Amino acid sequence: MTSTGDGSAHELLQRLIELQQTYHHIPWTEIERLSRQLSLSQSHIVGVIEFYSFLHTTHQGEYEIFISDNITDQMQGSRLLAELLAKGLGIEIGTTRADKRVSLNYTSCIGMGDQGPAALINGYTLTALTTERINQIIQRVDASTPLDQWPRSLFEVSSKTRRKDIILNSEYIPGAAIAAGLKNGPTSLLNQLEQSGLRGCGGAGFSTASKWRFCAAADAEKRFVVCNADEGEPGTFKDRYLLQAHTDRLIEGMTLCAAVIGSSTGFIYLRGEYRYLLQPLNEILEQRRKAGLLGQSILGQANFNFDIKIHLGAGAYICGEESALIESLEGKRGIPRSRPPFPVTQGYCGFPTVVNNVETFCNAAMIAQRGPEWFRQVGTPASPGTKLLSISGDCERPGIYEFPFGTSIRDILHACGAQQTLAVQIGGAAGRMIPATEFNRTIAFEDISTGGSFMIFNQNRELLRAIENFTHFFRHESCGFCTPCRVGSSLLAKQLSKVMVGHATAKDLDEMSILGSLMQKTSHCGLGQTAANPILDGLGKFPSLFQSRLRATSFEPAFDLDASLEEARLLTGRDDPDAHLEGGGV
Ligand code: SF4
Repeated sequence: MTSTGDGSAHELLQRLIELQQTYHHIPWTEIERLSRQLSLSQSHIVGVIEFYSFLHTTHQGEYEIFISDNITDQMQGSRLLAELLAKGLGIEIGTTRADKRVSLNYTSCIGMGDQGPAALINGYTLTALTTERINQIIQRVDASTPLDQWPRSLFEVSSKTRRKDIILNSEYIPGAAIAAGLKNGPTSLLNQLEQSGLRGCGGAGFSTASKWRFCAAADAEKRFVVCNADEGEPGTFKDRYLLQAHTDRLIEGMTLCAAVIGSSTGFIYLRGEYRYLLQPLNEILEQRRKAGLLGQSILGQANFNFDIKIHLGAGAYICGEESALIESLEGKRGIPRSRPPFPVTQGYCGFPTVVNNVETFCNAAMIAQRGPEWFRQVGTPASPGTKLLSISGDCERPGIYEFPFGTSIRDILHACGAQQTLAVQIGGAAGRMIPATEFNRTIAFEDISTGGSFMIFNQNRELLRAIENFTHFFRHESCGFCTPCRVGSSLLAKQLSKVMVGHATAKDLDEMSILGSLMQKTSHCGLGQTAANPILDGLGKFPSLFQSRLRATSFEPAFDLDASLEEARLLTGRDDPDAHLEGGGV
């Protein structure tokens, strides 16, 4: 089941997702119906539809295809394959075919960096695209073959776990962590977590024990547990693997959190791009209910009731930000809230809420089962334990790697078979670009902190293409709420395009730097505060990339007024000197 099913306004997003699947758009008759049923204005509903990339009021194709457009997909040839697909289907990218059979568009990274190029079709993942697979897709679309009759191999998502350490190597018995946690009691469990030093694995690194403790201490009738499975940072896919292969650990981590904070309801916010995981996750939830490990009287404890609902996202990167995620859980646009108050005191529906990501909950379950000393046996004093990395790009063995915190970038590159590496983007588009001179640095909260994305670029790559990809990603994903990010991300993308085509001057680079710093200081949330990182890192660490493309030292405006008058000249049939600015036309 997906949340909430209770007829409340919180149900809106889930209802819209179902309508989009059924009708390939949200019909006005349904908007009117939802407006009446949920007591919401039609303008509010349209506002929600327009916020999410996978919802539309205009009719999309019966087959709605999104090509993943992360830089690592592009490095694997996605752009050429997209053109091939568009040609074969007889449409332009970004359009719907006249017969409404198919739509084709690009989308942000869909979390398949280890098996790209990848795409979504009606929300389901197509992996490892090749020319041959593209031809198979074209044939089936043309023949109107229902998706459930397509070869399963097209949708296969493999688990490429390349290196395991204490977490992934440990055997896990369903029920063992909650049995251990409940036996010792919530206070003991919190103390264990504290001693383990577990920190949030999304990148920010806040103490997990402190977060749970603050939430438990907040004065309220109800509390909620939320798993952030909206793994949207470009180049990240390790949570996808945990959701698929270690679901029990995740659920037990959430259940233990519920026991500590006193919650009876949890949510898994599953990114829309991982829709293929919805059914298996629901099946495991159901199995656990039947086994007495979820739902009423867990493990026979009459006073411990906790259940989990799954809430699907609909293509909005910003919903990975915890307060935006809570807004989305409430069925609204995912606009980040002002903080404080923090979700631990006022989260879902205003009640205290713990939001942790998938890896954090899995680690919490393992610590309850194996103890804090076991967890601290690897890592550094400030960053105990291990980190899962999603490694993609220029290396022989892309996939999921578990490394102890404190491992150097050099050692990681060696492990995955990367050679002649020019730079590594760590932490996704919002992360940092690390040059070869800094490969002795380590993955750790006290050095380079990361949610897990690790994209490798070798010396044959044009790094500016990666910077351009990330900058355009932020322009697309800015939620538009605050001016520095909405306008700044757009201006940065335009200025970078000017650099790419060789029209920029040194003054443009200075302006990009000033604008980037301004965005860092004045944006409302982390997205805007980090959106300029790719350009600022590029300017700081790889200045020659930009300088080699400067055409002149004098200023050239971004807007060419004379060129913009061309249409007027054509209409009036004039092309004499006085019709040009240089000719004294103004
Ligand atoms: Fe939205 Fe960007 Fe402002 Fe964050 S910084 S609230 S994403 S516009």
